[in-house]
Amino acid sequence: MSTQIEATDINNQGHLLIGGVDSVTLANDYGTPLIAYDVSEIRQQIQHFKKIFDRAKVKHQISYASKAFATVAMYQLVKQEHIHCDVVSGGEMYTALKAGFPMDKISFHGNNKSRAELEFALEHKVGCIIVDNFHEIDLLQDLTRASQQPVNIMLRVTPGISAHTHEYVMTGQEDSKFGFDIKSGQAQEAMKKVLAAPFLNPIGIHCHIGSQIFSIDGFVLAAQKMMDLVLKWKKDFAFDVPIVNLGGGFGIQYTDDERPLQPEVFIQAIIDEMKSIAAKNEIDLPEIWIEPGRSIVGTAGVSLYTVGSHKNIPGVRNYVAVDGGMGDNIRPALYQAKYESVVANKMNEPANVTVSIAGKYCESGDMLAWNQKLPATQPGDLIALLDTGAYGYSMASNYNRNPRPAVVFCENGKSQLVVKRESLADITALDLSLNES
Ligand SMILES: *Cc1c(COP(=O)(O)O)cnc(C)c1O
Repeated sequence: MSTQIEATDINNQGHLLIGGVDSVTLANDYGTPLIAYDVSEIRQQIQHFKKIFDRAKVKHQISYASKAFATVAMYQLVKQEHIHCDVVSGGEMYTALKAGFPMDKISFHGNNKSRAELEFALEHKVGCIIVDNFHEIDLLQDLTRASQQPVNIMLRVTPGISAHTHEYVMTGQEDSKFGFDIKSGQAQEAMKKVLAAPFLNPIGIHCHIGSQIFSIDGFVLAAQKMMDLVLKWKKDFAFDVPIVNLGGGFGIQYTDDERPLQPEVFIQAIIDEMKSIAAKNEIDLPEIWIEPGRSIVGTAGVSLYTVGSHKNIPGVRNYVAVDGGMGDNIRPALYQAKYESVVANKMNEPANVTVSIAGKYCESGDMLAWNQKLPATQPGDLIALLDTGAYGYSMASNYNRNPRPAVVFCENGKSQLVVKRESLADITALDLSLNES
């Protein structure tokens, strides 16, 4: 649900529709807090990315960065759309496997992959391991020597670019925990090692400069730095890098005053830059891969909460408290993320009060949104926090021993539960009693 809600997203009872389903019905059927996805919006986002590359007639691959939202049903949806997936842990890999996602379309990321995770990846023949550091090269050499099975790898490098975004979601700068630094020669050293390793098959280089990026400069600069490497390695190692993977980070609109660029603007800038460098140096254009996460699921998700208590501090602030919060969406508390909201059962009522939406967790920082213009609310009303599809449920926790919410997929007026709500029994499922002494 984008922040621009259209008339067609509201039914004649004044209720918000999600994927054609009445949000009040969703709340009644599945309870709150509930995360609801408009599935056709996810499909459209994926198809949109594909079309941009198809139109440019460039060899490409789109790999959904599944950490944005990773569940069995989501991997199955991605499988239906025939694109690749990135995973960043054994847990995500396992979820993809359980979903029947083709393992040869998986890229495995991480700055500290364990031996067990790498073994799992090799055993299930993941398409590509994005190698992050020298320790990982050693581990992979060990494991592949033992199994005598080759594995496709890409080297993740840090191009030394500061994307203009929150520092916790900035990843391309030199001082980063991720990847081989180019400037100090680490990337060069890593490539030399990989080329000498009998079972490591280098298929490309990778960088990811950050998240929620709003300008093309960082991507163009990244494309240049990567093409510099491609040219250098052709010269130094007589190696033609087949794939340049430029990661994800395409920004989406969370608030009315944000103006993100359309994906085609980013992608076209990348393609143009790489094409021009390739032409100038008379080399073939490498295949271009991207890894969008947020921009595939972010605006498709809506969090539904039931209003409970109110606190009005005259002249200071109106608080409206809902039945969820940082346990189902930690982004506002973690990096001051902003959202827009609506009262889903009062879509046609005038928005004439200003309120801040508080969660129910025992932290003052547990706020979901500040200074929202909404219709007056009573206990029982339904607040929809918009565009919560990325990094909401995937970062959910059981803080305060609150059960994690349910997730539902909505498409063409039908809903389907895809993650059950945790029960109180689930909350203590892993706990063991103290030994009697
Ligand atoms: C998180 C991540 C992405 C996706 O980032 P978004 O901002 O969600 O598009 C892509 N690639 C890598 C390596 C990542 O860590």
